[in-house]
Amino acid sequence: MRVIVVKCPKCGMVFIPPKGREKDEINLCENCGTSFIMENGSGRVVDREIGKFEISLNGEKVYVPFWIVKANIRILSEVNLRGFMGMFSRDSRMEGTYDIYILATDHTLDYVKSLSQALTVYGPRIPRSEEFETSKILPASMSMDDAKKMAEFLFITYEGEKPGILQRLDYIFKVEDVRVFYAPFYMVRGNLQYGFAMR
Ligand SMILES: [Zn+2]
Repeated sequence: MRVIVVKCPKCGMVFIPPKGREKDEINLCENCGTSFIMENGSGRVVDREIGKFEISLNGEKVYVPFWIVKANIRILSEVNLRGFMGMFSRDSRMEGTYDIYILATDHTLDYVKSLSQALTVYGPRIPRSEEFETSKILPASMSMDDAKKMAEFLFITYEGEKPGILQRLDYIFKVEDVRVFYAPFYMVRGNLQYGFAMR
């Protein structure tokens, strides 16, 4: 049997991820609380933000991991930009740097798309917290690299799904950095519900 050992890049603590649990792409050091990913056998610290619970629901508090892919997007061809860019701005812009939130848990593509889209809009308005309020954190099954691809895919499909608007899309999509966001949710009868106020 192969024993997988991970080492915190910040404090050096070595630990074995608990057995029988789904693989988590984002490790959380049990000693110093640093979030990190494993890359070619060594750990790399990932910047982390924790969302604050704002509402009370009759359910279990749980954090849902999202990758925040910060991307610079430039549209090269003339298109009507009411799609993706319109989520961020009322003006038609040809260029901008955006935080795209990507759901990192193991869910269907449709669910990943709809929650990623919602959090891309509401995520920046969720207040942040320094500490976790609960240790219940869903595992991230999507790697950081896959999140970058998913962010670009989301951008393209969002444009493409507006019928009659998009003819041709020439663009440059450049990822500037990726961090992780633990979004506050409630597990209510097996379903995830927002733990933040929609504003
Ligand atoms: Zn550590």
